[in-house]
Amino acid sequence: MEEQKKPRKPVISYWIIALCIFLLLQAFVFPNLFNGRVKEVGYDTFISMTENKEIGSVQIESSQITFTDKDEKQVYRTGVLNDPDLISRLYDSGAKFEAEIDNGTSPLVYILISYILPIALMVLVFYFFNKKMAQRMGGDGGSMMFGMGKSNAKVYVKSTTGIKFQDVAGEEEAKELLAEIVDYLHKPERYKEIGASMPKGALLVGPPGTGKTLLAKAVAGEANVPFFSISGSEFVEMFVGMGAAKVRDLFKQANEKAPCIVFIDEIDAIGKKRDGGQFGGGNDEREQTLNQLLTEMDGFDGSKGVVILAATNRPEALDPALLRPGRFDRRIPVELPDLQGRIDILKVHAKKIKLAGNVDFAAIARTAAGASGAELANIINEAALRAVRLGRSCATQEDLMESVEVVIAGYQKKNRVLSNKEKLTVSYHEVGHALVAALQTQSAPVQKITIIPRTSGALGYTMQVEEGEHFLMTKTEMENKIATLTGGRAAEALIFKEITTGASNDIEQATKLAHAMVSRFGMCDEFGMVTMEATQNQYLGGDASLSCSMETQTRIDQKISEIIQEQYNRATALLQANTPKLHEIAKYLYEHETITGEEFMQILNRPQITAQPAAQ
Ligand code: ADP
Ligand code: MG
Ligand code: ZN
Repeated sequence: MEEQKKPRKPVISYWIIALCIFLLLQAFVFPNLFNGRVKEVGYDTFISMTENKEIGSVQIESSQITFTDKDEKQVYRTGVLNDPDLISRLYDSGAKFEAEIDNGTSPLVYILISYILPIALMVLVFYFFNKKMAQRMGGDGGSMMFGMGKSNAKVYVKSTTGIKFQDVAGEEEAKELLAEIVDYLHKPERYKEIGASMPKGALLVGPPGTGKTLLAKAVAGEANVPFFSISGSEFVEMFVGMGAAKVRDLFKQANEKAPCIVFIDEIDAIGKKRDGGQFGGGNDEREQTLNQLLTEMDGFDGSKGVVILAATNRPEALDPALLRPGRFDRRIPVELPDLQGRIDILKVHAKKIKLAGNVDFAAIARTAAGASGAELANIINEAALRAVRLGRSCATQEDLMESVEVVIAGYQKKNRVLSNKEKLTVSYHEVGHALVAALQTQSAPVQKITIIPRTSGALGYTMQVEEGEHFLMTKTEMENKIATLTGGRAAEALIFKEITTGASNDIEQATKLAHAMVSRFGMCDEFGMVTMEATQNQYLGGDASLSCSMETQTRIDQKISEIIQEQYNRATALLQANTPKLHEIAKYLYEHETITGEEFMQILNRPQITAQPAAQ
């Protein structure tokens, strides 16, 4: 990718060059300063050396006396005293001596040469480099010294990113909205004729890794206009006011280059809500920067053709002033890809690696439910790496499937050896999950069960795969999911009459689900349709803050444990009724370590054989 970027580091080296020039100059103007031969001595030494006839030559100047020893090897210097006998004493000693001839060099000239000239030279050097840098940036010239307060925006000119909309898979709505903006910048007359004006700003919102930055780069690649790209954090400066200056500079440049696009990535770094400032005045610098941004966005005239794009995964944290009409009034959601989107993203990235012919993208996409574009790109890359590791010339379906697990659950931990007893416990635990899932009609079928430990810490896991996509979940489905989560612990308790720490993650997830049922989805009769929490980071895990009294909170907690207990009992009952199958499948898993969904269903559906616990 070719981009024009102002180098930052070289500023330091320019300083060093200038310092060298200064030192060199000093060396010529005050040669003595760098001459180790000059030795400062007192006037008494001078007199005694004169009397002892140790002096070679003497030069008397208006403010100092420089003299040498007999062999003229060592140069001495001393001050001038009112000494009427000096001349006769020198004459007696036989030294050569002379006075400085005042040929009209006034102190003014002296100061000029030794101080002002070097400084002037230094300024000139800086001005020169500054101007050079500004030219490289395509800017106007060194308006500010040393690049401080400069926006540092990367400027992409004329589709140099090489990324086009076709490189972004899925996200059709987002692409459509962005394509409209590109179209407007290319043919503004068509819009003006009708009287339509483009929104000044568009905000790309969505979870991390869904391709927001990529989309913006694609816009740069599609639009034949300059594209300024800067990250919100680059505005955050050490000095108060610097960030605001950068914003000003960015918009100044953008106005000059209009029509153009300005892209501010991770805008939440500067666009966070301004607080009342009751705690020590808040963050002054950030607020100033934000205020400047707001002012600039109001200041320019939309018809000029400057469009501002921004991306964030925390839209709710943004200052409301940024979102009001006239600023970022177009919101472009960039969501996690659906099944088709995942297939398309896999295909886009698969072009970059060598693949075996029989790869089934749909199967991989189905397994990787909930994965973001970035994770899918990673899955493809991991598969290629695995193929190399295993000495293959192309990546196969198996590589891809394994790398899905790597991305979801971490690498296989070959050197962690579980004791047989532990392995057996994990087998029953995982089969407990799978069996409960399979026995509930609405639960998704099992894709794979494994008891090979992973680097993420999981000792085994059950991979469930939804056949189709779901956008709504019924209450029964949520309950079934909780039952499945409790299935692991239920199996342990049922078979070993003892429970282990292996269920911690299940407990966490089950609690989250039950919590959401009560406080967010109104799925419990006691509270009904009352929301008791507000989601805060919908794209970043969705922290929620409770908005209810302590008393209600206690009741919520109680309700949650009731829900989970109920499902736990149901899971236990299901397993109890199918204990022979539990033994059979757990035994099989214990022996094979990994079983596929088909094997699992086969064992589950074949006629019952006599119940027999797995080998202890
Ligand atoms: P974010 O939304 O966090 O800005 P990025 O745009 O940085 O995400 O995406 C990271 C990487 O993930 C991209 O460089 C690309 O390789 C991959 N990616 C994400 N979404 C897509 C997509 N829709 N199509 C193709 N690749 C994608
Ligand atoms: Mg990004
Ligand atoms: Zn579990």
